[in-house]
Amino acid sequence: MRRCSASFGRFLDFRRRLRDGAERAHDIAGAQERRRARHDAVADIETRSGTAVPLTIGMIAPDGLIGGTEILMAPPTADTLGITVVSRLVVWGFSSRAALDQALATTGVEPRDGVRVRRSWDAFDPDLTLGMAETKQALGEFTYRLLSDGINLTLSPDWAATNLPANFQEFVAAIPVRARCNNAIHDDLVAALTEVAQAGLGSAIDITNTNTYGGCFGPRLNRISGALGFISRHTWAQAIDMNTTQNAQGHVPRMNCDVVRIFRRHNFAWGGDFLTPDGMHFEWVGTRRDQYQYPSKYCPNLPPTGATQTQASATPGADAHMTRATMFAGDGFSAGD
Ligand SMILES: [Zn+2]
Repeated sequence: MRRCSASFGRFLDFRRRLRDGAERAHDIAGAQERRRARHDAVADIETRSGTAVPLTIGMIAPDGLIGGTEILMAPPTADTLGITVVSRLVVWGFSSRAALDQALATTGVEPRDGVRVRRSWDAFDPDLTLGMAETKQALGEFTYRLLSDGINLTLSPDWAATNLPANFQEFVAAIPVRARCNNAIHDDLVAALTEVAQAGLGSAIDITNTNTYGGCFGPRLNRISGALGFISRHTWAQAIDMNTTQNAQGHVPRMNCDVVRIFRRHNFAWGGDFLTPDGMHFEWVGTRRDQYQYPSKYCPNLPPTGATQTQASATPGADAHMTRATMFAGDGFSAGD
């Protein structure tokens, strides 16, 4: 992939801070929504060895241009930070889709185990998760410290006080999952579990396992990409893990597909079709996902009836997803666990 001659950048989510300290570090993100960041701001990005590297922010870019990633930088810049792993490529500025596909094939970049290729003209993947900037916009952001074990984090208490309940909660009496989940996902989680219960699928949720090993809040680095500094979405308590033993990360998911589709209907993406399957993982995304037809490997959505087809075209926000402009991206690093 390093031989690829197209323009590309590396996604970076290292600890960082603004030199002037006036705004929190994540405000330097490249995403469009974070308009309060200044184009001429100077940021220090701190490497894991503790060296601060001064960088100039060149552009606050629309999500559609940079594929929802948070910071995009040229390879020589990444080299100064010691970033040697390419986690994602974004290609743009080409005139022919066929020529792009041909070029990718020539360089050996094709879908296979460990590589996922997305094109802006592909069908929308119902299990696509929110980009980092979208997540922060919806659920807030925090400062954090990496603990000495190298994986777990402590968060700024102000964010937790605002966004998390003080204690574990039971959401639906009929399916007594108990978890500490972000306040923003509470109502959707209640709706999903309620429908699972009403559909007679309560036995598909292993309560003992879920309440022992699953749950929402777990501030730590991502299990797959933590070495790159990526934070698990469980840090935001926006995802819930259930039936963990039967759905271990990296293994064939065993989750009931009707449960999966019900959760998609109530604004959750499912991890079973992530690049590294994570069948226990339901990640809140804030929009319905049960209506998109997509060749999911596991638990694909069912063909729409006339009624759901109508609803799909009327779903607010759906069109925005369809216009994303990530031309090509290796995926799986930013999502989920
Ligand atoms: Zn998870």
